[in-house]
Amino acid sequence: MYPNKEQKKLFFQHFGACRFIYNWGLENKLQTYASDGKSISRFTLNKMLPDLKSEHIWLKEVNSQSLQGATLNLDNAFTHFFREKKGFPKFKSRKNPVQSFSVPQHYNVNFETHRIKLPKIGWVKAKLHREYEGIEKTATVSVTPTGKFYISILVEDGQEQPVAQHFDENTTVGVDVGIKDFAILSNGEKIDNPRNLKKSIFRMKVLQRRLSRKQKGSNNRNKAKKPVAKLHEKIHNQRNDFQHKLSFRLVCENQAIALETLNVAGMLKNHRLAQHISDASWSSFVTKLEYKAQRYGKTIIRIGRFEPSSRICSKCGYYNRDLTLADRDWICPDCGAHHDRDINAAINIKKFALDKQNLIGI
Ligand SMILES: [Zn+2]
Repeated sequence: MYPNKEQKKLFFQHFGACRFIYNWGLENKLQTYASDGKSISRFTLNKMLPDLKSEHIWLKEVNSQSLQGATLNLDNAFTHFFREKKGFPKFKSRKNPVQSFSVPQHYNVNFETHRIKLPKIGWVKAKLHREYEGIEKTATVSVTPTGKFYISILVEDGQEQPVAQHFDENTTVGVDVGIKDFAILSNGEKIDNPRNLKKSIFRMKVLQRRLSRKQKGSNNRNKAKKPVAKLHEKIHNQRNDFQHKLSFRLVCENQAIALETLNVAGMLKNHRLAQHISDASWSSFVTKLEYKAQRYGKTIIRIGRFEPSSRICSKCGYYNRDLTLADRDWICPDCGAHHDRDINAAINIKKFALDKQNLIGI
C-alpha cells in the first residue's frame, strides 16, 4: 500500500494503539491469574475498552474493531501456547521489526481504482496483485523495518479442499535437510540455496560485524542499523521466492513428500547464527510445503528424528555405527554399496515414511 503522509501517521497510530491494547490485555491476564488464579477472556477485556478509552483519549482516534482485533490476537497467542506448546505470549515492543494491526471488517477493496478503504483512514492507494472472489474476512496491515506497507486479506472462497491423491514408491520423494545444500532428494538431486541469497547472507555477516564494532547507543551505530534492516528484508524476500518455487515444484512433481521432523530442542540450544538462519529457513519451507500440499491434494509424511536416517545403508539395512558428521560418503561394509551421506539419508526417509505410514504423522 502507498499511504500518503496523513495516512501514514494514522497507520502508525493504529500500530501503536493495537500494541498498547495487546500489552494492556496481557498485563491484565497475568495480574488476574496471579491474584485469583483465574483467566479472563477477551470478551471481558473488550468490555473494559470503553473505560480505557476515556482514560487514554488518543485511543478514540483508532478503529475500535482493530483494538478488539488486538485482544483476539492475544487470545490466539495463548491458544498457540497451550495447544501447540509454542512460546508463552510476550509483550510487544515498538522495536519489533514488523508492526501490524487487523481490520476485522468494514473495509472496501476497489480493483478498478486500485484503492482500499480502511475505517478511520480512508482510501489508500495499493497495488493489488490479484483479484479474488468470496467472503472477505480479517485484513491485516503491516509495515516492514524499511517502511513498506502491506495488507493481506483473508478470503473464504467456499471451495472444498481436494481429496488426497494415492501415492506409492514411484510417486513419493524423500527430502533431507542438508548441511552444505539446502535440501537433498531421494532421487539424488541436491538443491543448493540460490546464488543471490548466499551472496546476501555473506554480506549480512559483514554488516553485522561492522555493526557490532560500533558503540551501543551511538549515532554511528544507529546509522549502521539501516542497511542491516534493508538487507534483512532482501534476504527474507529472496528466501521466500526460492522456497515458494521449490515447494511448488516438489508438490507438483510428487503425490507424497516424506520429511524428517525438525529437532526443536536441539535448535534452541544452537546459538550459532548460520545454523539458526538455516533452521528457521527450513521450518518456513516446511510450512509452505504443507499448505501447498493441502491445496493440491498431496500428502506430507513426517518421520521422527529418532530414526537414524544417515547411518543405515539404504540398500541392505546395515547400521553404520562408526559414521561421523565429517563423513560425506561411505562404503557399506556389508553389501559394498557406495553412499553419498545425504542422498542415502533422503532415501531412508522415504523408506521409513512409506513403511511406517500408519505409525507416524501424515
Ligand atoms: Zn549395505
